[in-house]
Amino acid sequence: MKNKVILGVDIGGTKVAVGLVDATGEIREQSRAPMVTTGEPRGGLDAVSRAIDGLFSKLGSRPEIEAIGVCAPGPLNPLTGVVINPPNLPIWHNYPLAEEMRGRYGVEIKIDNDANAAALAETRWGAAKGYRKVFYATIGTGIGTGIVFDGKIYHGHTGAAGEGGHIGIDMQGPRCNCGKRGCIETLAAGPGIARRARQKLATFPKSLLLELAGGNPQEVTSHLVAKAYEKGDAAAREVMLETLDMLAYWLGNVIDLLDPDVITIGGGASLMFRPFLKDIQERWKGACLNPDPMSIPLLPARYGEDAGIAGAAALCEFR
Ligand SMILES: [Zn+2]
Repeated sequence: MKNKVILGVDIGGTKVAVGLVDATGEIREQSRAPMVTTGEPRGGLDAVSRAIDGLFSKLGSRPEIEAIGVCAPGPLNPLTGVVINPPNLPIWHNYPLAEEMRGRYGVEIKIDNDANAAALAETRWGAAKGYRKVFYATIGTGIGTGIVFDGKIYHGHTGAAGEGGHIGIDMQGPRCNCGKRGCIETLAAGPGIARRARQKLATFPKSLLLELAGGNPQEVTSHLVAKAYEKGDAAAREVMLETLDMLAYWLGNVIDLLDPDVITIGGGASLMFRPFLKDIQERWKGACLNPDPMSIPLLPARYGEDAGIAGAAALCEFR
């Protein structure tokens, strides 16, 4: 068991990241290559192979691999391993990725979307280890979520369950990329925070936030909001507190629906909320029916940028 490894493959819209993951969830070595997003479907698979070859050449030899786990942009069918029609990966349309990769590498291939996979990695090896009912969210340029019950990803009726980032918290809210209005993703992921901060500047024309953005509201990012907040800026403070309210209200809905044993938060934009996880929990008191929401831990995820690699590997079992 000690030396056994699974190959985790994280396919995104711009790059492929691959890594060898051991039975403790440690990523031993990793590599990446640009993804090819247009042209013949085979070109996309060749890009994946280039990333894997790059990893093998780093190692000096081809390691003994138990299985290959893959996370790819959705929509995809985790049961059949078919990538359906991802908007940011138009090279693949109803593409049988698992079957093609099995043909090329001769080992078992498992596929899922990145948030589901990362949820499983946190459950097996990370912050949610030891918990049976897990809700995981990754907050970055969007909000992805995954639900894990008893060590298994909950896929729902059609395989599309766990899209918690598109739970609406405001029917009159801004239009989300998905077409709905007021999804938590469009309000509280990185770009949503930046957009709300830009609107806020109208009432705080002399804020430090605007200064940090070089005087150009279009340059305001969620990262700058966090920075300005730390320095005591009033506009950034309002944006931050409103974001905590939104996240708490959203998670309150999740708690009323799932009553999970634990909630784990990862993703690049989540780093700005790390100091405020307790504050989000405090806000649950008025945001859900649950009689004891404070007993549900809200924990930072173990995996950061490598969540896709670890997640992909977590889809597979060690023999
Ligand atoms: Zn949405």
